[in-house]
Amino acid sequence: MSDSFDLVVIGAGPGGYVAAIRAAQLGFNTACIESESRLGGTCLRVGCIPSKALLEASERYHEAKSSFAEMGIKVGEVGLDLDAMLGRKDRIVGELTRGIDGLFKKNKVTRVLGRGRITGAGQVAVDGPEGTRVLNAKHILIATGSKVAPLPGVEIDGEVVGTSTEALSFNPVPKHLVVIGAGVIGLELGSVWARLGAKVTVLEYLDRILPGMDAEIAKEAQKEFTKQGLEFQLSCKVTGARKHPEGGAIVEVEGKEPLRCDQVLLAVGRIPNTDGLGLDDVGIKTGRRGVIEVDAHFQTSVPGIYAIGDVIAGPMLAHKAEEEGVACVEYLATGYGHVNYDAIPGVVYTHPEIATVGKSEEDLKAANVAYKKGVFPFMANARAKAVGTTSGRVKVLADATTDRVLGVHIIGPNAGELIAEAAVAIEFGASSEDIARACHAHPTLAEALKEAALAVDKRSINF
Ligand code: NAD
Repeated sequence: MSDSFDLVVIGAGPGGYVAAIRAAQLGFNTACIESESRLGGTCLRVGCIPSKALLEASERYHEAKSSFAEMGIKVGEVGLDLDAMLGRKDRIVGELTRGIDGLFKKNKVTRVLGRGRITGAGQVAVDGPEGTRVLNAKHILIATGSKVAPLPGVEIDGEVVGTSTEALSFNPVPKHLVVIGAGVIGLELGSVWARLGAKVTVLEYLDRILPGMDAEIAKEAQKEFTKQGLEFQLSCKVTGARKHPEGGAIVEVEGKEPLRCDQVLLAVGRIPNTDGLGLDDVGIKTGRRGVIEVDAHFQTSVPGIYAIGDVIAGPMLAHKAEEEGVACVEYLATGYGHVNYDAIPGVVYTHPEIATVGKSEEDLKAANVAYKKGVFPFMANARAKAVGTTSGRVKVLADATTDRVLGVHIIGPNAGELIAEAAVAIEFGASSEDIARACHAHPTLAEALKEAALAVDKRSINF
């Protein structure tokens, strides 16, 4: 097998594997190095996909217990088979990771098993099960993702004090789970275990949940989660957590009594995963928290070496990494490649779902942009009534002068799917009137977006 490639990608997460396939489509002789035996990175193996499998299954379980009767469905006693639920999650992950192997074969991407280490511009050493192999590369792309951010004083043991990885496989259901951090991971996995019967306490440093997200939407989300039984302690600085000699764990909080519980999930963010890559040896510049610095075309401070996804600045999202990977290799192959950072949606897969794209009201106020706002509640949407989830709303923010859509924020049923229309609208530079004039099928949840767009001009029909 030749050891010379046009492009060597390090990391086969959503950023790396998508970039490798796109590069191969563009005619690059491409290799992708991955240290794990299964492709797909954190997202597929221990992140987005297994958590969504559990979110879906736990929500159905919860529905069967709480809302089937109202819909006129009689079932016997609803029971939980946690082994089966966890097994289904593992099967889904297995099928999807094997799918990437198939895609690599189809696109003739060479897969290299081992840990990549950049030894100079154009050279990557791979420490694999059969020793070290050196690959020569015209271009190198770093796509090694992120790892859990540690918190001083919190002693992760993988048993009672763990991260999102352990929280995908708790068995049995913890009696009392303490979640440190009311961000995306804390709320998604906190929801799973609350639905399955755990008492869940979320400790958050700030005075609000979901920092960075539109504040009005985050406030409504907190109300919903509280109704579902999650307990929030805000403005609460966790200073330590560890296994307790008498069993379970102890969590220390500044200025408060320590908390006893039987399981702790640490979810206070993630940091770039660049251990052992040799960045310093080749002179690749990094900034705060180890973020790799890149130019507008994803090139690092060393010519010929590029970086995308969680190792560079911006939201740590699989689809952001994918867009960057594609833009980076398209630029290398064609001279064109671009990511519109204003049109990257973010979704929290709780119930109800929360989805957002573009600017929040706080962003617009801080930038002194005059805007108009249109809001439509799902309570007034016919399909939401039929579905049985009427909480939440759609909020459209449009430029006060041009009417161009600047941000859309949704909390409600299927928000994660509904946001796609808003992302396309922003990508195409649509006005709120464009959305309002587009015909939306009736009865659909998507009509709530149309009505919110109409509400920008105070001409909503159904509210
Ligand atoms: P996050 O940044 O979303 O939230 C971390 C939270 O922890 C923040 O609210 C922060 O204020 C809080 N915190 C920090 N220090 C604390 C302390 N000492 N005590 C109490 N609270 C403290 O991080 P996350 O939830 O760990 O997620 C990590 C990354 O993974 C994020 O970038 C997220 O976007 C991504 N992710 C995305 C999805 C999705 O798109 N659905 C799902 C999971 C993870």
